[in-house]
Amino acid sequence: MITLYVLGSGSRGNCCAVESEGVALLIDAGFSAREVERRADAAGLDLSLVAGIALTHEHGDHACGASLLARRLQVPVLTAPGTWRHLAATMEDAEHRPLGLCTRMELGPFIIEACPTSHDAAEPLAIVARASEGTSVGVAYDLGRPTSAVRYLLRNLTAIVLEANHDEVQLRTSEYPPVVQRRIAGSAGHLSNRAAAELLVELHHPGLRAVVLAHLSQQCNTAAEARAMVAPALRRAGFRGTLHVADQDRPLAPILVVQKAGVQLGLAL
Ligand SMILES: [Zn+2]
Ligand SMILES: [Zn+2]
Repeated sequence: MITLYVLGSGSRGNCCAVESEGVALLIDAGFSAREVERRADAAGLDLSLVAGIALTHEHGDHACGASLLARRLQVPVLTAPGTWRHLAATMEDAEHRPLGLCTRMELGPFIIEACPTSHDAAEPLAIVARASEGTSVGVAYDLGRPTSAVRYLLRNLTAIVLEANHDEVQLRTSEYPPVVQRRIAGSAGHLSNRAAAELLVELHHPGLRAVVLAHLSQQCNTAAEARAMVAPALRRAGFRGTLHVADQDRPLAPILVVQKAGVQLGLAL
């Protein structure tokens, strides 16, 4: 069993955590250390259980609290070598453990795997954590497009945190200048609600228990619109788990990710 904590997600900060057997892994630390501590407290996540901080990429909304948290918690930072090179100057004496396409890293009860994503960062990753008894959680956002590597990494998971960044019509009619619109919608930008729905239908399998839509644009999306695009598509695909939408400003209630043969639970606590 994994407890998934989504402490917040959006262009002003992203932070999730998975916990199993008394060990937790932070995935991204895109709020100040103090804010991560405040949100962890509000969500009931004990930060003293954190054994590592995995970072998808170096952008501030994913990494700005990592340095101070790594020092305070005395834990390693797990990220791609290219991301580490960008962050190393701010990391002082934090330990780096390299994540990448062919790495399988053990951390407590977790096996952590990653693959490159298509995004305008040094060496961005999607990250999967598998617990020893078989449950698994994947985190993939800041995806310009879902590459075959991302599709392969995210197959057969128990829970997926996936970007549903924007409504395509809202983006086209937004006040963003055309060049910014093209960057967001481009292959190194962000995944739309429609693209997220299509990818989730493709990734759906009977063991998928929980889906969290994440990194919603504040200008070009709402939780209701993201849900309205994704929920019917997932339902038609046979999804019977729980669908959540991450919030920028507050943590979600912890999501209990349970794998049980033949039964789909994905309980929200
Ligand atoms: Zn981001
Ligand atoms: Zn980014």
